[in-house]
Amino acid sequence: MSAPKARLFAPGPVAVAPEVLAALAQPVVHHRTAAFRATFLRVRATLADLAEVPGDDVLLVSGSGTSAFEGALLAAVPRGATVLALTGGKFGERWADLARRYGYAVREVDVPWGRAFDPQAVVDALRAGPAADAVTVVHSETSTGVLHDVAAIAAAVRSVAPEALVLVDAVTSLAAAELRPRDWGLDAVVSGSQKGVGLPPGLGFAWLSERAWARAADPAVRVPAFALDLHAERPKQRRGDTGATPPTSLVVAADVGLAQLRAEPSEVRWARKARLNRALLAAGAATGARPFAERPSPAVAALETPAGVDAEGVVKELAARGVRIAGGQDALKGRVLRPSVLGDVDGYDVVLLAGALEDAFRAVGRDVPYGAAAGAALAALAVSE
Ligand SMILES: *Cc1c(COP(=O)(O)O)cnc(C)c1O
Repeated sequence: MSAPKARLFAPGPVAVAPEVLAALAQPVVHHRTAAFRATFLRVRATLADLAEVPGDDVLLVSGSGTSAFEGALLAAVPRGATVLALTGGKFGERWADLARRYGYAVREVDVPWGRAFDPQAVVDALRAGPAADAVTVVHSETSTGVLHDVAAIAAAVRSVAPEALVLVDAVTSLAAAELRPRDWGLDAVVSGSQKGVGLPPGLGFAWLSERAWARAADPAVRVPAFALDLHAERPKQRRGDTGATPPTSLVVAADVGLAQLRAEPSEVRWARKARLNRALLAAGAATGARPFAERPSPAVAALETPAGVDAEGVVKELAARGVRIAGGQDALKGRVLRPSVLGDVDGYDVVLLAGALEDAFRAVGRDVPYGAAAGAALAALAVSE
């Protein structure tokens, strides 16, 4: 028997469109050329459109979403400053750890995994403690499946600490969920290539507000990093250059993939991803799994398996069938499934995934009737057409 297909339904890395894969196969180009600079500038402009900050600087970072967050934090927040980190999941905790590593004074506000932050709790935390210079928050917390209400959280921060910068991890939300950095008053938005924008891994993206750039422009704020010094990068990238060699093939492929993405209006894409994700939640419900997130993100369907069903077993059975999803992390290991509709995924892909989910549940001993999950997914897609 031939090896099973490797179908990606994980919240990163995601399935990549064939046109993007074909672009990756082109001969490697030199980065110090007029043609590459034009491509680089086009990619940055399209990313700015996708992030709803047309005309602004979105910087490309060689690395991933984590590198972009690291660069943005160091660029915008002076050394030794106080950072209020909203945790509530694996990635929220990552930014608290990262900030601590660089010597920031970090305070954390937590919520139980699966719950969404109440903006009032953020207000209370800001009032209670020493003044925060920056607040970090994850928009779509991929570990728990929660879409945190970043608009309301940013407004809450502004109401009590107008000087505090709001730094947002939009790694899985960019291009998948409504995100309006200017209207919401955000100061940094970062993402990565292998998530919502549907490209291969290898690039991080970072946007900063004018006031964040201005704060960082203070000569007293020397960024304690070299390759990730976004201050040094900004003037170069405005010309289509980079400090170090960029992943040229990836940038060429991004030019193709981002143009495809941009051709669909943001509102249409956000609604489509939400609809696909609802179909996934409906398929899960048909197997007895329940939505884990209080406020579900369209980027990942966190499903709590019923008592007696080991989620890790289901993930393994799916992998054996050539279908890759994510399981739970830390305390959620064995308890949740995290399939995702990010990337090159359409309604029939979701129906296929639902069918595979049924098979995997039956393989671990749960009696799911044939067609139950696939039918639920089809019905959910049809209802919302
Ligand atoms: C994947 C992910 C990250 C980390 O991104 P990398 O590209 O793996 O560095 C950060 N935050 C969220 C919400 C993610 O889903």
